[in-house]
Amino acid sequence: MIAVQVVVVGGGPGGYAAAFLAADLGLKTALIDPELNPGGVCVYRGCIPSKALLHVAKLVTEARHADAWGITFSEPAINLDKLRAFKNQVVARLTGGTGLLAKSRKVQYVRGLASIEDAHTLRVKLTSGGEETVQFEHAILATGSVPAVPASLRLPGGDDPRVMDSTAALDLPDIPPSLLVVGGGYIGLELGSVYAALGSAVTVVEMTPGLLPGADRDLVDILAKSISRTMKAVLLNTRVVQMKAEPAGIRVTFDGGQTGDAVFDRVLVAVGRRPNASVPGLDRTQVRLDERGFIVVDEQMRTAEPSIFAIGDVVGEPMLAHKASHEGRTAVEVIAGHKVVFEPQAIPAVVFTDPELAWAGLTEAQAQAAGRTVSVAKFPWAASGRAITLDRVDGLTKLLIDPATERILGVGLVGSGAGELIAEAVVAIEMGATASDLKLSIHPHPTLTETLMEAAEVFFGQSTHVYKPKRP
Ligand code: NAD
Repeated sequence: MIAVQVVVVGGGPGGYAAAFLAADLGLKTALIDPELNPGGVCVYRGCIPSKALLHVAKLVTEARHADAWGITFSEPAINLDKLRAFKNQVVARLTGGTGLLAKSRKVQYVRGLASIEDAHTLRVKLTSGGEETVQFEHAILATGSVPAVPASLRLPGGDDPRVMDSTAALDLPDIPPSLLVVGGGYIGLELGSVYAALGSAVTVVEMTPGLLPGADRDLVDILAKSISRTMKAVLLNTRVVQMKAEPAGIRVTFDGGQTGDAVFDRVLVAVGRRPNASVPGLDRTQVRLDERGFIVVDEQMRTAEPSIFAIGDVVGEPMLAHKASHEGRTAVEVIAGHKVVFEPQAIPAVVFTDPELAWAGLTEAQAQAAGRTVSVAKFPWAASGRAITLDRVDGLTKLLIDPATERILGVGLVGSGAGELIAEAVVAIEMGATASDLKLSIHPHPTLTETLMEAAEVFFGQSTHVYKPKRP
């Protein structure tokens, strides 16, 4: 039997961040997960392997584009075994590191699947066989999410390896001549970009009128232009109503903007994820789920059961690793008796396509929906020296500013490397920075970070590289 002060169920970026902080704060801690090392979906079959593949995809795309700069490479020869090995090595290196970090901190890592006995006892079915009992003062549930697959996207005759979820697609079984991506969200666009760069003819089908619902349209428009060049087709306002496995491929029936049917070599289904609250025995506690299946928590990550906390994808959107880590750290601090709550002003979102799309804080769509008046200052990357040197003027930096206080309320970015640039926006929003703060902070030249400073200058009608005088 193991007796600890804190047990964390689920070893993803939320769970392991929580377990490591608990140990750092001197609490006797155990972390339970079926994988060899901490890492969870994000590290084993999500954020990390997809980013390794997107890095390669970007190289292929740039090499093709280099012809315009006077450097012509021959068409890439793709060795899938080696590419898979690179991706697996990235995962192994990172998870090896988290495993070592757990050991160094004396976090007891238990490989297995947990079920709940009561509000202070877990039973773990060990991966190695047998069972272990864990008694705890506090538990943190960090069980994440799983792909959502509606009935219309299930094959009537049972599973077929040609219909993939993100996990199967990341395994790179082959480079299919044709791939249908169902869902024009984060996963669909990221993995669709990988397959398109490797040579598949990719079609994206999205049921709403635009890609990446939730993101501002002016940002998405720039990404959509690039996608229209790299992918074979984007079908908007269209749903997949039926799929059928045939020897030649998967026959897919569309309805809406596009009707009829077509056959694809492979299909990737990426229509969202649902919370994984299916921890056996949860019903023996006071933990409650909402109507969408998320565990209900307060701003201190407490469930209705005083000894049990929950964090990450299983407690609500956005389902992002960095949100989970921060919630995990909040839960641990609360357990340690600190006076803290989880109340971020900005949770950044990044779509790692090419160009990347990122936003933090208020979006223009949210401001409009709330009837909130905001000033919008935009700096197009065509006016950025750095973007021109990179031959990447397909970008836009946008600030949403409170007209009364001149505080930065939100930032939207699209462009190469936008995912790195958004971090400055998060700091600005969290610190209550005003447009003047951004304008007066000297940004290094020539860098893309200057687009944030110059967008603030645009707000005052004083941008060096954009002539847009402020109307009196
Ligand atoms: P998503 O919510 O981003 O996108 C799903 C898309 O599918 C939406 O645009 C939706 O309108 C569309 N859709 C739903 N049902 C459909 C149907 N029947 N036919 C056609 N389109 C349909 O979900 P996802 O791409 O599956 O990703 C899941 C979650 O994983 C994301 O919400 C995100 O939180 C996380 N994620 C994040 C990153 C990142 O941070 N870069 C990357 C991948 C995944």
